[in-house]
Amino acid sequence: AKEQAAVIILFGGSGDLARRKLYPAMFGLFQRGYLQKRFAVIGTARRPWSDEHLREIVVDAVKTMPGATLEQAQSFASHFYYQSHDVTDADHYITLKTLAAKLDDQYQVGGNRIYYMAMAPNFFATIAEHLKSEALLTDNGFNRLVIEKPFGHDYASAKALNDSITATFDESQIYRIDHYLGKEMAQAIMALRFANPMIENVWHKDFIQNIQITLAEAVGVEERAGYYEQSGAIRDMIQNHVMQLVADLTMAKPDSLTSEAVHKVKGDVFDHLHVYTPEEACDNFVRGQYTAAVIDGDAVTGYRDETGVAKDSLTDTFVAGKILVDTPDFEGVPIYVRTGKRLTRKSTQITVVFKPAKDNLFNTSDEPDTLTICVEPSEGFDLVLNGKKLGQSNDLIPENLAFRHDPKLAKQAPEAYERLIQDALQGDQTNFTRWTELAKTWQYVDSILDAWQNNTTMPEYPAGTMGPKESFDLLARDGNEWHWQP
Ligand code: NAD
Repeated sequence: AKEQAAVIILFGGSGDLARRKLYPAMFGLFQRGYLQKRFAVIGTARRPWSDEHLREIVVDAVKTMPGATLEQAQSFASHFYYQSHDVTDADHYITLKTLAAKLDDQYQVGGNRIYYMAMAPNFFATIAEHLKSEALLTDNGFNRLVIEKPFGHDYASAKALNDSITATFDESQIYRIDHYLGKEMAQAIMALRFANPMIENVWHKDFIQNIQITLAEAVGVEERAGYYEQSGAIRDMIQNHVMQLVADLTMAKPDSLTSEAVHKVKGDVFDHLHVYTPEEACDNFVRGQYTAAVIDGDAVTGYRDETGVAKDSLTDTFVAGKILVDTPDFEGVPIYVRTGKRLTRKSTQITVVFKPAKDNLFNTSDEPDTLTICVEPSEGFDLVLNGKKLGQSNDLIPENLAFRHDPKLAKQAPEAYERLIQDALQGDQTNFTRWTELAKTWQYVDSILDAWQNNTTMPEYPAGTMGPKESFDLLARDGNEWHWQP
C-alpha cells in the first residue's frame, strides 16, 4: 500500500523551517497519496496556540502550492494538533504522550511514530533524553527520529549529541537530515555515474584532472548573525553538504541501491579523506569575508558591519579548499570546493575536468573535456567536448551538449524535504547521514579550523564577486582554474 500511517511529532511547529519547508513537504505527500487518512501531526512549540491556530498556519503555508485547492488544504490541516510544550519540562512530555496515544488510536496508525526535531540544536539532546525518560516510544510500531542540522559544532559536540540521541534511538532509527541529499541533481549523480559506461569507465584518476564543487549563495548573513558568527561557511556548508557531494562523486559503485550498500561505499570515502598537517591545511584551505559593495545600484553592507557581527570577526563567510581522497581510484585528484555568502548568484554547480588527449593531432590547442552537473537553480548537465570547427580546417572548438530538465516539470517533482520525509516514513536511510560519516567529516573540518586558529589574516572579497583572490590562486598554483557558469 502506498499510504503511510504515522503520528508525526514535530518539535518546533511554529518555526520558520516548519512553515516554509515541512508543512509544504507533508502536503505534497498528502497530494500524492503517501499521507491519506491514517496520519496525524502534533506541532509543538512554546507559544500557547490552539489546534485551530496551527491549522490556519498550515493552510496558509500550503494553499498556494501547485494543484492545491483550499478544500484540500483544509482537509490536510484537519490532521494537525497543537501542543504547547516547553522541551525542558518533563511534565509536558506526559501530556504529549497522552495526546500521541489518543491520535494513534483515532487515526489507527499502529504505533508508528516520527519525532522530528526542527528547533534550535541545543535542545536536540534534551528532547531525546525526555523521550526516553517519559517513555514516549511505542513498542508496536516504528519509532524514527528525524534530526535537523547543524549536527554539532565540532567533533566533540557532535559526539556528545550523538551519544545522547543514541541513548534513546539506535542508528537504524535515526534520520539525520542533509537536505542536499534530497535534491534532484544530487540524487541523479549515481545514475549519471553508474548507468553510463562511457562515463563510468573514465571516472578515475587516470582520466579525471580535477573535480570542482561550488555552492554559491547570493544572500548575506541576513538575520542569522547570532548563529553564523559561531559557525561560518566551513561548518555551515562544507562539513555536511559539500562533503556528502564529495562522497557521491568519488565513491565506488555500490553493490545495489540499498541504504546499506550506498553507505558502505560512501563510508569508504570518508575513511580515506587526506588529513593535512596544520601548514598544509592553511595552504590548501583559504577563507574570506565579504566587504561592502554596490550591487545593481543597491549598497550592500560588509560582513563586519552587519547587525550582530563583531567588528573584528574572524568568521569565514567564504571558504575554498582542495580536498584529497586517498582511495586507489582518486588518489592525487584535486577536489576543489568553495562556498560562500554574497557571491554573484545563488547556484550549485559541480564540474569534472577531464585530462587532455595524450597526443594532440590538431592545429589548435584542445580544451579539457568537462562535465558540469547543474544542481540548482537550473537542473541538468553540460558535457563539453572538443569538436571540429565548421568548414575545411582541423581547428578544434569546444562544443557543449547541454541538457536541462524542463523547469515546469522540475517544479512539479517533489521538493527535497518531501523526498526525505517520504523516505523517513518508508524507512529508507539512503539519503540521510550516518554517525560514522559525520564523525569523519567533523574531524576533518576541525583540523582545518585548528590550523586557522593561528592565522588571523582574513582575505576579503567585495560582495557580489566569486570570493577572494586567494581562492583563485589556490587553483592557479596547480595550473587549474575555476569553472563557473555565471
Ligand atoms: P525557528 O527559530 O524559526 O523555530 C524554532 C522553534 O522552536 C519554534 O517553533 C519555537 O517556538 C520552538 N522553541 C524554541 N524554544 C523552545 C522551547 N524551550 N520549548 C519548546 N519549543 C521551543 O527555527 P527554524 O529556522 O525553524 O530552525 C529549526 C531547525 O531547523 C534548526 O535546527 C535549524 O538549524 C534547522 N534548519 C532550518 C532551516 C531554515 O531554512 N529555517 C534550514 C536548515 C536547517
